[in-house]
Amino acid sequence: MDCRLGVLFLAIFTCSCGAQLSSYPSNEVNLLDSKASQGELGWISYPSHGWEEISGVDEHYTPIHTFQVCNIMEYNQNNWLRTTWIPRNSAQKIYVELKFTLRDCNSIPLVLGTCKETFNLYYLESDEDQGAKFREHQFSKIDTIAADESFTQTDLGDRILKLNTEVREVGPITRKGFYLAFQDLGACVALVSVRVYFKKCPQMVRNLAVFPDTVPTDSQSLVEVQGSCVNNSKEEETPKMYCSTEGEWLVPIGQCLCDIGYEERTFSCQACRPGFYKSSSGNMKCSKCPPNSHTYQEGSVYCVCDRNYFRSEDDPASMACSRPPSAPRNVISIINETSVILDWSWPTDTGGRKDVTFNVVCKRCGRGQQQCEPCRGAVRFLPRPTGLSNTTVTVADLLAHTNYTFEIEALNGVSALAPTQRQYAAVTITTNQAAPSPVAVVRKNKTSQRSISLSWQEPERPNGIILDYEVKYYEKQEQETSYTILRAKGTNVTLTGLKPDTTYAVQIRARTAAGYGSSSKKFEFETSPESFSITSENSQLILIAICSAVVIIFLTVVGYILVSRFCGHRRSKHSDEKRMNYGNGHLRLPGVRTYVDPHTYEDPSQAVHEFAKELDASCIAIDKVVGAGEFGEVCCGRLKLPSKKEICVAIKTLKAGYSEEQRRDFLSEASIMGQFDHPNIIRLEGVVTRSKPVVIVTEFMENGSLDSFLRKHDAQFTVIQLVGMLRGIASGMKHLSDMGYVHRDLAARNILVNSNLVCKVSDFGLSRVLEDDPEAAYTTTGGKIPIRWTSPEAIAYRKFSSASDAWSYGIVMWEVMSYGERPYWEMSNQDVILSIEEGYRLPAPMGCPVALHQLMLHCWNKERSLRPKFTDVVSFLDKLIRNPSSLLMLVEDIQSFPESPGDVSDYPLFISISDWLDSIKMSQYKSYFLAAGYTTLDSVSRMTIEDVRQIGVTLIGHQRRIVSSIQTLRLQLLHVHDDAFHV
Ligand code: AMP
Repeated sequence: MDCRLGVLFLAIFTCSCGAQLSSYPSNEVNLLDSKASQGELGWISYPSHGWEEISGVDEHYTPIHTFQVCNIMEYNQNNWLRTTWIPRNSAQKIYVELKFTLRDCNSIPLVLGTCKETFNLYYLESDEDQGAKFREHQFSKIDTIAADESFTQTDLGDRILKLNTEVREVGPITRKGFYLAFQDLGACVALVSVRVYFKKCPQMVRNLAVFPDTVPTDSQSLVEVQGSCVNNSKEEETPKMYCSTEGEWLVPIGQCLCDIGYEERTFSCQACRPGFYKSSSGNMKCSKCPPNSHTYQEGSVYCVCDRNYFRSEDDPASMACSRPPSAPRNVISIINETSVILDWSWPTDTGGRKDVTFNVVCKRCGRGQQQCEPCRGAVRFLPRPTGLSNTTVTVADLLAHTNYTFEIEALNGVSALAPTQRQYAAVTITTNQAAPSPVAVVRKNKTSQRSISLSWQEPERPNGIILDYEVKYYEKQEQETSYTILRAKGTNVTLTGLKPDTTYAVQIRARTAAGYGSSSKKFEFETSPESFSITSENSQLILIAICSAVVIIFLTVVGYILVSRFCGHRRSKHSDEKRMNYGNGHLRLPGVRTYVDPHTYEDPSQAVHEFAKELDASCIAIDKVVGAGEFGEVCCGRLKLPSKKEICVAIKTLKAGYSEEQRRDFLSEASIMGQFDHPNIIRLEGVVTRSKPVVIVTEFMENGSLDSFLRKHDAQFTVIQLVGMLRGIASGMKHLSDMGYVHRDLAARNILVNSNLVCKVSDFGLSRVLEDDPEAAYTTTGGKIPIRWTSPEAIAYRKFSSASDAWSYGIVMWEVMSYGERPYWEMSNQDVILSIEEGYRLPAPMGCPVALHQLMLHCWNKERSLRPKFTDVVSFLDKLIRNPSSLLMLVEDIQSFPESPGDVSDYPLFISISDWLDSIKMSQYKSYFLAAGYTTLDSVSRMTIEDVRQIGVTLIGHQRRIVSSIQTLRLQLLHVHDDAFHV
């Protein structure tokens, strides 16, 4: 027996070292540990000679408790060993870990009884300690425990006992506690240690939340546990985890964030160190203080700005502290009368910010800087005085001849926090003469069908001596597309040459040495209607007057016929009657004044005195010579008529030694000119015939003749300005043709231009046209004609008419659009005549809008009846002016149309479908268009490529050529719908 026990103890001590070194997992909570118990265990053996407690110490001299039994020499063994009562605490599921050795029956020689190699584990639940009372049948069996291995073979061949470890689960336990019991039925077993434990989820910090120790339930479900935030942190989303039955934490949800001034360090939130700050909650680290700021405390939420540095309310804590900018630099002032442009450079130091703006303070000063006071009243800042983001401002409406100081301050977002650090730059200026203020009221004094007399008061603030007034007027419905400008020395003016029953808009502005003031507002006045309406009161009187007039005329005519017959006297062809009703053989429209040919007067000087005012030579002062005419020099000078303002005039002189015929021809121009009253026809002021030199006085045209003027200003005008000039010329020509006057020598050299670019038709003569024009050449019919400007029928058989003037007008258009180029360049006159005969026409000048070249081509129609009338030309040009976009398409653009013929003269303005198809070499389709019902160009202009296909044009190239030409047609027709021209 002793020998056997020795073997057992050897085994215990061999194996106990390993057991002693092991530590338990953190999620296991011991309820009983036989090894850890210092004193007696108090376990009970039944019968008392069965299980035996052996107490000893391990190598660390820690007491150990071991139970053994080995009654293998006897039969019928039933030895029980019962633990003390073990309270279960909160646990439901219990684990029992047994460490034991078990002798292999084969290794024991001479076994007398029945040798077993297992023992049984039992348990009994109870709510309280039952003391020494033990009833075997009350216990429930947990399991039979067998050894895994009984022996281990050493290298030397020794067999040593091996320590077995077995773990069994018990539960769920529902009572407050329980007992364990070990039943031996005849084995040789030593129970080295018994540990009873349950599992839990141990306390832990996860996502800055503390989760407490949690004991799982016995069921399979997880236990949901809510964590609580560590100190100095707040829940962002409720932190949660689940505790599994195995004592493991699963599925963390939510988290806590460190408060401002705290950062996460080792599972906790710790205060920022000095020199660092954290201005928002979150698990980021504390940041270093930004430039120009500091903090000496722990847990700082922001850093304090250093001395003289600031942070605006809107600045984030992470932004460097900043300071006001330095003063603006290099202030420049540009004074223009009573306004000044101030300009400056950006400050050298912006204070570390980007939000720099500028404020400008205006001070009106006396002689010294001390006598400054803030500017009052209507001083205007453009765009504004404060909050300027650009380094410039215009200050207007200052007083004339006044000293001002402007303080320009640069500001940024912290300027308001540092009033003492603010800096500004100052500039002192003195304003100049101011322009006059606007004319406030314009009154109508008198109106007639063709004139309106106006008067007004001097501007409230003339700011100097008023030199003159500029009176601008235009037909209201024309909306300023074309206007006339007059200059008035005094405060009244009569607008003449107006249309009856028409509303005119008038604007007046005064001029001083300082320049023009602002224009007055628009005043509207109406001319009288052409015929008065007859009221009931005066109708009878008017009726009587008309009847009397008819009777008188009748008697006069009858008397005249009788006297003529009686006297046999026939007046020459220069009869007054003819003068009254005809002009150049044209039947005039009733109500329209008619041109009277001075040659119809037997005494031409009579005509001069009928149509021209005789001036007193003493009223005229000649200043200088400006040109040379056929009869003498042309000078500029001044005309001062009694009770009228002095005006600038052109003075044409008749050189000394003239013949009577020359005198008559010279003055015939005045006789003709004096009959016209139109803003686009040179106005005759009068003549001096009663003293020498004989002169003709006309309005002065500052820019001289149009051809040289355009050559001087090559490419300097906009298309609209050029069209405006052409419109003026056409309007003057319309007046002439309305009166039945044929000019015969319309050319740019015979158009004069004033300072406002108003073009006026001049050069009215009779035989002179053929004599004095250097462009005129002798034709085969014997006349002297300006070939390049003259229509074929006028060249061929001297058929001059308004239609031949229209041809010349087309040439003037070409001259204008080419800035004074010579028509047909260096071609000889003969070549010009032949080319025209063959159908050649001048191509469009560079940059010429299609619409204008089309109009030229229309003027150059061989058939004179198909040329446009001047009234049509005026309304066509008006339409172009009103729709400037119609001028955008240039001839160059058309020429680049795919497949279109290169020469734009292939695009005459108004032609038949047949001509049009000929011009684009598509004549073969004439019948197709007719058959499909396209009879007018207008209908063709609306065709699409689909329509072109449908009428039977199948070749793609031909379709494209026709469609691109239709685009041009459409453009032409766009301008001439309404009543401008008729196809
Ligand atoms: P004329 O004899 O009308 O052809 O005039 C000869 C030149 O005198 C013209 O080419 C102009 O340069 C100039 N001239 C004629 N009339 C005027 C005028 N009313 N205003 C300014 N210059 C004029």
